[in-house]
Amino acid sequence: MGETSRVLPPDLRVEYPRAARAAGCYLYDDQGREYLDGCSSAIAVNVGHGNPEILDAIRAQLDTITYCYRTQFANEPAERLAAELVRLAPGDLSHVQFTNSGSEGTEAAIRLALQYWQEVGRPERRLVVSRDVSYHGATLGALAVSGHEARRRPLAALLPDLPRAPRADCHRCPFGLTRDTCALDCASAVEQTILAAGPGNVAAFIMEPVVGAAGGAVPAPPGYLTAVAEICRRHDVLLIADEVMTGLGRTGRWFGVDAESVAPDLLVLGKGMSAGYLPIGAVLVDARIHAAIHDGSGTSALGHTYSANPLAAASAAAVVDFLVRYDVPARAARAGDRLRRGLAAVLAARGVAADVRGAGLLLGVDLTPHDPDRDHGVTAAALTAAAFEERLLIYPAGTDAVPRAVIVAPPLTITDAELDQLVDRFAAALDRVVPVAD
Ligand code: PLP
Repeated sequence: MGETSRVLPPDLRVEYPRAARAAGCYLYDDQGREYLDGCSSAIAVNVGHGNPEILDAIRAQLDTITYCYRTQFANEPAERLAAELVRLAPGDLSHVQFTNSGSEGTEAAIRLALQYWQEVGRPERRLVVSRDVSYHGATLGALAVSGHEARRRPLAALLPDLPRAPRADCHRCPFGLTRDTCALDCASAVEQTILAAGPGNVAAFIMEPVVGAAGGAVPAPPGYLTAVAEICRRHDVLLIADEVMTGLGRTGRWFGVDAESVAPDLLVLGKGMSAGYLPIGAVLVDARIHAAIHDGSGTSALGHTYSANPLAAASAAAVVDFLVRYDVPARAARAGDRLRRGLAAVLAARGVAADVRGAGLLLGVDLTPHDPDRDHGVTAAALTAAAFEERLLIYPAGTDAVPRAVIVAPPLTITDAELDQLVDRFAAALDRVVPVAD
């Protein structure tokens, strides 16, 4: 690479190749090496790199206005984007607060939930219940509700001790059940956690419809989303769906909660919303919450210098437009089936006991076997590094609790030929790290 990098990298002892350009499902480094983007970089690049339709929309916006401040002006791309998000969103989500990232979206959702209870004269409702093995962002408030010990550890002294429910995870069920014997104890545990905290103290419950970075694309068992939504309703607890990773087509539906037609009170977006083109996130707000604030104090005193930035909004509006025009969520569902079959076949052919799960093109491979005698000890980090050697990007799911799961989540625009290449490179990566069975 030549001179020493002055950009602080995540791992200070690793020298990363320098990315030079990208197109479609591939990135290229400055040595001309090609990498297949098997995880949409950070599960963000949902419409592929260098997508001409998105680039055209950004260029057009550059010629009109790139910045105005949210307390002085509304702007057309942000208005258009908000209207489209509300049209696509489940339930009665009626307004949008824009942020610059998913973490800020979580912060905004928590803040709006607490503000709602203050506006309606119930300020004692201020706890947010979340789940073990979850990730909602890197900022303090988002980490406070994240069950991701490695990321919480450095800031532990500043993080409040909020109630957490056990995870929903059929591969390693915390209740010792199997998919056949599942009685949704994980959903009942959410209710028990709310009851233990005192429902009158709980503002909201936050969850990812499919657990991403912390768990490795872990979907809840069938019926779970419906059950927890009903529990929240019963105890008047607001439901926050963190759809930063799952939202806008990734799971083969518009939103992860659409799997069970659940209507959350707040829904957080980021990542795929602008598909990595420009930084933007959002929280969608239910009409009841909006009305309480509108008719109460009348202010939502949160936002950032770049909130509702016209250029970022134009990029996201173009992404959403692309998803609608080409019916991308349905394509993701079909491609996800093909990829899941391909990965499962590769693992089976090598006798590797693993759980291949997820939804649409958000798939996880958990290499933890049920039988500890069959544990080959391959970590997510080792498999990710081996895949990198094979010029395939996959995403390690990073918690102490789940050290063996990776996420495979290519752009939703991936072709069948590219999917097959992904599976081949995944197989080659496995062959580098998994000992050959006797
Ligand atoms: N929520 C979920 C479910 C995520 O996966 C992430 C990022 O991985 C975040 C929130 C935080 O988003 P960002 O990295 O844009 O701050």
